[in-house]
Amino acid sequence: MKLIVLLGAPGAGKGTQAKRISEITGLRDMSTGEMLRREAQEDTPLGRTISETIGGGNLVPDELMVNLIRGCIKDGKCRRCQSPELCHAGFILDGFPRNITQAKALDAMVREQGRRVHHVILLDVDEKILKDRIESRARNSGDERRSDDTASTLLHRLSIYKSLTSPLIPYYEGQGILRRLDGMKPMDVVTQELTEIITSRRAA
Ligand code: ADP
Repeated sequence: MKLIVLLGAPGAGKGTQAKRISEITGLRDMSTGEMLRREAQEDTPLGRTISETIGGGNLVPDELMVNLIRGCIKDGKCRRCQSPELCHAGFILDGFPRNITQAKALDAMVREQGRRVHHVILLDVDEKILKDRIESRARNSGDERRSDDTASTLLHRLSIYKSLTSPLIPYYEGQGILRRLDGMKPMDVVTQELTEIITSRRAA
C-alpha cells in the first residue's frame, strides 16, 4: 500500500492535483478538508463545532483528525466509505498532516502497521502568487464558495500554514522523503511530474 502526502499552502493546487493523480494512479484521494466539510453539514454538536472551526480558518483538534485518518488507513480499509476495495492501492493524503503533532502521529500509525510514507511532495508556490490566487478565488467562486473562502479567512489560513504547517518541510527533509515540485508550472505539467514521482519504483 502506497502512502503519499501532498503538502502546500492554501491555493497551491493540492486538491485539484490530488483528484487528478488519484484518477491516474488508482490511489485513493483523501482530502481532510472535504471530509470535514461533509461532517460539518451534520446537525450534531460535533458537526457544529467543526463548522465553526473551519469557517474561521482554524485547525480542528489534532485528536479528532488523527482518529479520522487512523480509521481510514488501518488495514488498508476505509471504514468511512462504501468501497473499501478502493483503498487497497493506497492513499494520497491531501490536508494531513498539517502540523508536527499530526506528522508524528502519522509516523507512529504507519510504523505500527509496518508501513511507511513513501513520498511527501511539496507544491511550491511563491507567496505573492498565492495571495493573487487566493484573492481571485474569493472573488470568483460565486455560489459555490466555501464558507472559509473569503479573502480574510484565506489570508488567515495562509498565516496558519506558515506558522504550523511549513515546519513539516524540514521535518520530512530530515527523513529524506521530501520532494519539491514547482507548483507555478502549468497544471498539466504539475500533474505529469507528480505522476512520475508516485509511479517511479525508485525509493524516496
Ligand atoms: P486549504 O488547504 O485550501 O486550506 P482544505 O480543504 O485542505 O483547504 O482545508 C480546509 C479547512 O479544514 C482548514 O482550514 C482546517 O480548518 C480544516 N482542516 C483540514 N485538514 C485539517 C487537519 N489535518 N488538521 C486540522 N484541521 C484541518
